[in-house]
Amino acid sequence: MERLTIQVGSYEVNCSILSDEGRAWIVDPGQEGERILEILAKKGLEPAGVLLTHAHFDHISGIPPLQKAFPELPVYVHPGDTPMFGHPFNQSWGEYESIGTPANIRDVADLPSALPAVTAIHTPGHTPGGVCFYFKDDKLLLSGDTLFAGSVGRTDFPGGSMGKLMESLKKLTALPDDTLVIPGHGPHTTIAAEKRSNPYING
Ligand SMILES: [Zn+2]
Ligand SMILES: [Zn+2]
Repeated sequence: MERLTIQVGSYEVNCSILSDEGRAWIVDPGQEGERILEILAKKGLEPAGVLLTHAHFDHISGIPPLQKAFPELPVYVHPGDTPMFGHPFNQSWGEYESIGTPANIRDVADLPSALPAVTAIHTPGHTPGGVCFYFKDDKLLLSGDTLFAGSVGRTDFPGGSMGKLMESLKKLTALPDDTLVIPGHGPHTTIAAEKRSNPYING
């Protein structure tokens, strides 16, 4: 599996394009859907699905251009986050539009049949339906806004819970130390580094 991570939108969401044998999986297309389409075309990749770590506006707003170009493109998300699509609190002024519920929503629980390499680890706390995508063979964790380098995601939005986030972190620290962690925002890290120095884990 190949991975390309780009920063999209003014919130600089880390959007990862995972590809294998000409098929691409787009994780958190937060904005700049046209740019993502250009990258796919340049690499000769056919998009197979969108994976969402959670449904905050800064992680989903690039979906409409992708589904305009590929109307059948499925969007995998945890059901706990689907009420956030189009919700008034879940939008920002300016460049981000409220996108409503995308077509072809699928439960992340069904993802392994389409992409066997992945485990979707339910990590509520930042949002009720937050997940981290774990690729065991690639030693890769896409942690969304659950775990950042040296920090964690906010829990003061609707549906957030610091107690649940702390429980979710325990699932992540149980992963191998040499797992590369690509958060939803900011620099990458490893499980070992976070166990050593993240105050929410090692406080
Ligand atoms: Zn978020
Ligand atoms: Zn975010």
